[in-house]
Order: sequence, then C-alpha cells, then structure tokens
Amino acid sequence: MKLYNLKNRKEIVNFSQAIKLGLGQQQGLFFPLEFPKINTNDLNKLLEMDFITRSSTILSYFIGDEINKYELTKRVKSAFSFTLPKLVQVTHNISCFELFHGPTLAFKDFGARFMSQMLSYFNQDENNKLITILTATSGDTGAAVAHAFYRMNNVRVIILYPKGKISELQEKLFCTLGKNITTIAINGSFDECQTLVKKAFNDTELKKNIGLNSANSINISRLLAQICYYFEAFALIPNKNRKNIVISVPCGNFGNLTAGLLAKSMGLPISSFIAATNANDTIPRLLKTGIWQPNPTISTISNAMDISQPNNWPRVEELFLRKHWELNKLGFGSVSDLETKDTLIELKKIGYISEPHAAIAYKLLREKLTDNQFGLFLGTAHPAKFKNTVENILNIILPVPKILKNLHNSHLLSYNMRPNFSKLRNFLLDT
Ligand SMILES: *Cc1c(COP(=O)(O)O)cnc(C)c1O
Repeated sequence: MKLYNLKNRKEIVNFSQAIKLGLGQQQGLFFPLEFPKINTNDLNKLLEMDFITRSSTILSYFIGDEINKYELTKRVKSAFSFTLPKLVQVTHNISCFELFHGPTLAFKDFGARFMSQMLSYFNQDENNKLITILTATSGDTGAAVAHAFYRMNNVRVIILYPKGKISELQEKLFCTLGKNITTIAINGSFDECQTLVKKAFNDTELKKNIGLNSANSINISRLLAQICYYFEAFALIPNKNRKNIVISVPCGNFGNLTAGLLAKSMGLPISSFIAATNANDTIPRLLKTGIWQPNPTISTISNAMDISQPNNWPRVEELFLRKHWELNKLGFGSVSDLETKDTLIELKKIGYISEPHAAIAYKLLREKLTDNQFGLFLGTAHPAKFKNTVENILNIILPVPKILKNLHNSHLLSYNMRPNFSKLRNFLLDT
C-alpha cells in the first residue's frame, strides 16, 4: 500500500512506514494513493462473509502484500475479539448502529486494537525496539488506546487529556491501569493537548530519542479498521431498506466520517453522510461559508466531540476532490446542549436510551431524512460511559456494565501538567 503526505505530495510511504510515522513531514496526514474498487459481485460476496473474514478481505485490498493474508486474518481476529456492532431499530426508518460493545465501550476499540496489532507486527522488523505512543484524548481514545496496548512488550503509552473535561468513568477507564500506561491531566482544552502532541511530533530529536508514535485517528491504521464496520452496517440492513441509505456520524476529529467515506469510495452503496457536531461547529460553518475559522473550544455534554480544529478534515476534503464528489452533498449540522438534552428525552419516549454523542447524530438525521430514505446514526459510546449526564437528563438509573462496575474503587494515577511543551518534553525524556 502506498500513501502520500497531504502537505508534501512527494513524500510517499508504504503502510508500515505510515503506521510507524503517524504523521509525515510538516505534520502532514498520510492518505492512500489508490482506493480499492469493488463491483456488485465483490460486494455481494463480501456481504455474505462473517465479520472477521470480510474485514480481513477489505483490509487486504488496502494494505496489499505488506502483510500476508493469513497473518492479517490472525491479527484482525485478535483485534476484533469482542461483541460485534448491533443494528437497533429506533423508528420505522431510523436505526442506531451501536459500535460500543467493545472492551472500553466506544467505537474507538476497533481502531485502537487494530493499530496495536499492526504496530507490534511491523515492529518485529526493527527488533522490537521501544516505542512511545503519545496521544491526546477528548475522552474515549485514551481508554481504547490504553487497553489496546496494556502490557504490550516494548511499548509505553502516554496519554494527555484535558483536566476536568472528561467524564469520571471515562477517566477511570484509562487512568487507573499503571504498568506501561502513563496518563497526564493537562490544565487546558483538548485542542491544547493535541497541539502538544503535534509539537512533540515536530521535534525530530525527541522523536528519535523515544521512538515516538501517535495513536490518534491521524494514524491511518485506525481509519482502515473503521471502514470494516460500515460494511457490517450495510450487511445488517434488511434488503428492502438498502436503497438510499443515509448515515449520520457524530464528529469530533472526523476520523469516523473519513472511514465511512472511504467505504463509500470503494463502492459501498451509501447515498450520503451527515457530519454532526456539537457547538464546536468549525466544519458546519466552513461548509456554510467556505471559511475555516475555528473558535476556542467549548465544553459540552458530548465531550468526546469538543474539538474545534478537527485533524482529519483535510482527508475528507481530499477524498471529495479525488472522487469528484461535491462537498455540498455532505449533510451537516451543529446541535446545542439544550437540543441534545431534548433529543435524549425524545429518544427515551420512543423507547431508546442513548447518550449525548449519538443523540446529536440522531437529531440531524431525523430532521434531514426524506420518506424514501433509510437512516442510520452511529452509536459511538455506551450510555453508561456518560452515566451522570444521562441519568440527570432522563431521570433514570442506568444499569452499569460489568467493565465499569469494577472501576469505582480504583485510584487515579495521573500526573498533572500545564499545557507547556518544554515541560512535556522533559517528562518524555526523563521517564
Ligand atoms: C471520538 C468520539 C467521537 C468523534 O469521533 P471522530 O472520529 O473523532 O470524529 C464521537 N463520539 C464518541 C463517543 C467518541 O468517543
């Protein structure tokens, strides 16, 4: 598989390099040089396969011969060794595609676990040298990445998160593990955490010294993994509803949406997508006015989407350009906290308990869906991850899944730090 750097198109790397580098020169994102293309016949064959076989096949279309099919299947099987996504009917023409049945109860388990498999596979070529994974999280990446790499040899993971801006359970899920997982609460916003990570990546000396890698959705392996579940969604949709499918995606860093668009670019028949955001509406405003004008990040009840400078947006634009799709066909919208709360209540009335992120996607889908269309919104996290918020809004007691129950008594092991790069740099070199 060949990928080029969106900021320097002459920089071409293969898949293993893209995984190890994370970002290219000038912090540019890597993007596939070629999109695999499937015809109707291929599609029908794919749809008949089980999830692991199908996912390995899709991934091998992209990755090519850099990893043999047998090894890839083995790795995919280890990565996706948890309860599969479920399609749950919510209204007569809308279903939720629940991606939160993995070990850390968010869709990010798919990307993080596949990335950890691929990184450990390709690190064998380098005699298993020490790798430092540095990543910023707005809530759920931290848990998914920490669990995916927990106790893995020759990998240490350092996670930055905005102090006090993620839910208590989100924090407990990744800041209590210890061993090769270090967590740092930054006195600032997610964007400030992300900026620190970017600075570290721009620091050639540091990068070499500590074998720096990122596990954010800038890493192409995460996006490729997520393509797989869009095919699963399609396979679960009853035949009669398979025309005019609209998928609404709750967006933060826009990785999930990029993966969906990549699935469409291969030939998965999705009519259109909706990019749903909370009050951090840089992209909805960009799509309306053509102007990129990020505002300071606002804290909302859908905190995993509190991002005002989404990293993956250049990939979305590139994809539309390359496919000659019109950007004005991309649905979009921004939903306030107040509207999100009302939507959660509305969903409860029709018998579906959700959480703020998915509710945002649902609201925009319901508003935009026409009679001849069938809509999915992505359930990106388990409601129990936002227990306090959901319980307060809906006036209910949420049952807590087993994974979260055991966390109540465990202690937070996080360090505290101001958003100051030289502090972080010293920390990375000294620990
Ligand atoms: C990360 C996350 C999102 C945003 O996904 P992106 O791929 O960053 O756009 C949405 N909802 C939840 C619950 C998340 O954890």
